[in-house]
Amino acid sequence: MGNGFFEVPIAVNEPIKGYAPGSPERKEVLETYKEMYNTKVEVPLFINGKEVKTKDTSTMSPPHDHKHVLGTYHKATKKNVEEAISTSLEARKKWAAMPWEQRAGIFLRAAELIAGPYRAKINAATMLAQSKNIYQAEIDAACELIDFLRFNVQYMTEIYAEQPESTSAAWNRIEYRPLEGFIYAITPFNFTAIAGNLPASAALMGNVVLWKPSDSQVYSAKVVLDVFREAGVPAGVINMVMGDPVMITDTVLASPDFSGIHFTGSTHVFKDIWQKVGTNIHNYKTYPRIVGETGGKDFIVAHKTSNPKQVATAMARGAFEFQGQKCSAASRCYISESIWKDVKKDLVADIKSFKMGSPEDMGNFITAVIHESSFDKLAKYIDAAKKDENAEIIAGGNYDKSKGYFIEPTVIVVKDPKYTTMCTELFGPVLTVYVFEDKKWEETLHLVDETSEYALTGAVFSEDRYALEEAVKILENAAGNFYINDKPTGAVVGQQPFGGARASGTNDKAGSKQNLYRWISPRMVKETFVSPTDYRYPFLG
Ligand code: NAD
Repeated sequence: MGNGFFEVPIAVNEPIKGYAPGSPERKEVLETYKEMYNTKVEVPLFINGKEVKTKDTSTMSPPHDHKHVLGTYHKATKKNVEEAISTSLEARKKWAAMPWEQRAGIFLRAAELIAGPYRAKINAATMLAQSKNIYQAEIDAACELIDFLRFNVQYMTEIYAEQPESTSAAWNRIEYRPLEGFIYAITPFNFTAIAGNLPASAALMGNVVLWKPSDSQVYSAKVVLDVFREAGVPAGVINMVMGDPVMITDTVLASPDFSGIHFTGSTHVFKDIWQKVGTNIHNYKTYPRIVGETGGKDFIVAHKTSNPKQVATAMARGAFEFQGQKCSAASRCYISESIWKDVKKDLVADIKSFKMGSPEDMGNFITAVIHESSFDKLAKYIDAAKKDENAEIIAGGNYDKSKGYFIEPTVIVVKDPKYTTMCTELFGPVLTVYVFEDKKWEETLHLVDETSEYALTGAVFSEDRYALEEAVKILENAAGNFYINDKPTGAVVGQQPFGGARASGTNDKAGSKQNLYRWISPRMVKETFVSPTDYRYPFLG
């Protein structure tokens, strides 16, 4: 630290731009989208400050327009991954010793670059790569990523300020060291903000990071990387490799210097990685930190006293925004019998009014799902529901992959509350509803708690405080983010730290101090001013 107890700017959430017709931000993002759509890019690996091209490449296409090619990305060999690890360990020597205010300066600058000159580009890239409509792109790639960067800088300084008591005889100090070794960040396709935050949060705390983005998000990950480079992240501090996830992961986990994983993605992948870490445990120099935010089967439960229009709106937004591909998306709903008729009418009317197509047409609320295997999986579940006499499709049910991977927002009403789509994470625009008898409120709350292996998000609607209270208690362990009279999506950094337990993750709450604690190893230093010179205590007489 330099000579001064520096204060960082107080973090405030980045305002969300409106993109209304005629607004300058709408014009800019659409122009950028068109330009990017018509330009081919090549995304190399990024190792020790250098772009590395290999002989092995894959193409990138928009999910809503899969015959169009946006460019190619290079895939790593084992040797590339080993080089990324060894160069990052070399970079660690200077990075870990760099004063915190310099690290803060870099990531605050990254936030400002995204808020300003990169905003249209990072949003357009997210519209193209992940088929987000402009609002979904703005709240993710721009606002949430900016918030992660700014709030984490503030949290870092709050952590560093946490110090133990001292006396006149001894001064106690805690140094918050980065972990010894390197961190491995594996990121999912669905949030550009998560892709940026997983490597950045660990790097901010003084660690070096090997970042592996999802194959389906490389296009927008490249923009994040460009921001990090322009903001001044030094060579080797964040290396980026793409390619075979199993080979990359096995190579990383074989390194004795592996000191932590920052993962977001599906539950089974995380469990496999955890198992591999366990198998290799005797090889590591330190116990690796294992942080993973994983799947969800998120619920809305509505009491007979709740407002049907509010419940229907929460279902329409909570289940179908970004085609239901949010880990927090509502995918199972439990609605009290006496309000169901009204809820159903409003929900079906809402869904009928949704327009579906390319995000370039800003009238479209719904776009495509991420890739063909997701499309095929969702189509399979929809077909099975069509054939099942215990399931009724009341909205949607059609799909078409001729141009893009389009699945109509679909609502299935089931008689069996344990029907497969009430339990399994589908990760798409398919919502399953179970209607319960008004008098079975308490029983239904237990059902909600016991139906799924996950515990990520959930929402309860009621105008009756006693009913809400009961839900809060019975569902205590059913969700890490619990909403009262609101949809279960849309967590904001600094306001609703995000994460779940059970099969949904280690609940280390992205966008909070708690997450940053995982990337540091405190060293306690006690300095005694006048050391004793006689071993005898008074009691020895
Ligand atoms: P995914 O598990 O398919 O992929 C995530 C990452 O893991 C990607 O980088 C992928 O390449 C990598 N990967 C895949 N197989 C691997 C393997 N065998 N070994 C090592 N790495 C491997 O997930 P996805 O489709 O990108 O994202 C959707 C999933 O992520 C959903 O389950 C969703 O609920 C979850 N998610 C959770 C949160 C949260 O905060 N809890 C947030 C976003 C997404």
